[in-house]
Amino acid sequence: MLSVLQYDYRQIPLIHMVHDDDLVLLDAPDAAWFKVLYYFPWKNYQIYGAQYYDALYEFNIKEAKKRQERLGEQEDQISETHEQAKQRLLFTRVTMGKYQEAANPSIIFESELPEPVYELPKIDPESISPGVVPNRLGGKKPKCFFSLLKSFLGATLMGFPPEPEYVYLLLNSNPSFLRVCGFAPKNEKDEYCYQHVPGLRKLEQFDQIMTEWGIWQDLKLQEVKRNIESGLVKKEDELVADTTHYYAYSGFETVKYIDDKGKEQKKSQSKLTKSCRCENRETCEHPWILADEGAGTIVKSNKKMYWGHKASIVGFPRQGVPLDAVPISDAATFDGETLYPHVKKLFDDLPEIKSSIKRILYDSACDNKELKEKLQKDFGLELKASLNPRRKKEVAENLPRGIEKITPYGVPICLAGHEMDYKGMRYENEKFIYQAPKGSDNSSVCLTCQHKENCCPDSFITGRIINISFDLLPHIDTDDPPMAKRFKAIMTRRPSVERMIKRLKCDLSDDRLTKRGNVSFQAYLDKTLIAYHMLLRC
Ligand SMILES: [Zn+2]
Repeated sequence: MLSVLQYDYRQIPLIHMVHDDDLVLLDAPDAAWFKVLYYFPWKNYQIYGAQYYDALYEFNIKEAKKRQERLGEQEDQISETHEQAKQRLLFTRVTMGKYQEAANPSIIFESELPEPVYELPKIDPESISPGVVPNRLGGKKPKCFFSLLKSFLGATLMGFPPEPEYVYLLLNSNPSFLRVCGFAPKNEKDEYCYQHVPGLRKLEQFDQIMTEWGIWQDLKLQEVKRNIESGLVKKEDELVADTTHYYAYSGFETVKYIDDKGKEQKKSQSKLTKSCRCENRETCEHPWILADEGAGTIVKSNKKMYWGHKASIVGFPRQGVPLDAVPISDAATFDGETLYPHVKKLFDDLPEIKSSIKRILYDSACDNKELKEKLQKDFGLELKASLNPRRKKEVAENLPRGIEKITPYGVPICLAGHEMDYKGMRYENEKFIYQAPKGSDNSSVCLTCQHKENCCPDSFITGRIINISFDLLPHIDTDDPPMAKRFKAIMTRRPSVERMIKRLKCDLSDDRLTKRGNVSFQAYLDKTLIAYHMLLRC
């Protein structure tokens, strides 16, 4: 029975149990997850706990209403065949944007929050704490938000995908984990108690509410902000970005369609499904939907194709810290199109970093003049992208003597196979200047070269020096030549995004998704990023 006094003052714990294995885990260098959960700063999360309990209440009311509606009459639906639905859904995809009337489809996925239809008294964040849950009239006491949150983050910190089935497995197989999360083991004959370890369905429900009400997203943003505010993550003047793919948990089919020129085209698309539970779904009147909205064919540079979801990642290159990861609405979107909308979103979410950012690094997918101008104009950002030679061939004609060819990247190679070093340019003469490299003894490689007689017979110290006219390399930007040392030095920081991707995708979580749709994918990325930023503080 509840004491009436419970609402007037909070009982401090009378007995504090210390478990031996807790002490061992606190000392274990490989068990960072335990330390993070043991010293969990729950006060920072009270506000999200209150949001969660409010959402849970709304969720329960909505579920009850849905059950009633299902018993009652069904709404009228437009009936369409399976094939018609395929075509309709195909032409709503972002990568089919040119066929759509509405301008600017959202390249970055944006989830919609549920409409707050009910005017409910809100939970006071100060009134909840680990083990103290709100007691609304009717129904069972809910499971503790802090324990549920810790169990999801703990699973991620241990390197498991942040999904209910893995959390369930860990809670039921690791007593230290169960205890540090704040749950108690449940024996078969025990009656319901809110402190008992939750069942799989409760974990799924928690994850669903945190996802649909946007609480994972808010929490992610808060974690990043907190680490920047405290100075743990230092503001840099550069960003680095890239996309990465996760394997989809779905199959696809190839849909044929007629393009705007009347030609037949093909595109891979998620199979269709219905959200109803009708017995004969082929003929019932409910609308077809994509089984895995957002999944698409991703073509990597090695021509390999994957059926998956695509995420865009942005971070600080020097520290190698990811700041945001978002799903791309349609995974088949070309990489070069995702940067601008993601930068825009990042600056909306984290205005505090906007003024310090001067430059952004990307791979050759963003080597695009218009994009560079747009980022400069709208955000004052200099975009540095690896050169994309775009089917440019090497130059083999009209070359100075002794030079065999110039690569598409603007590097001349001499007859002896040496790459010439870029030295600079004479702008008024419109020429790039190169010099032969030095050998291991620090003297020019030309001095002992068998081609010296025909190439540079009079050069005794410097070795071969050549001028190449700008006209020979029209695709090289003379304002920012990619052969220059400065360009190369800046671009050495670009691969740090690959390490961020590995951290998020392999060390915390997994690159094989177990849920479908962009809403789940967004939550998956959010949970991983929350765990990452918590771990930074450890
Ligand atoms: Zn149906």
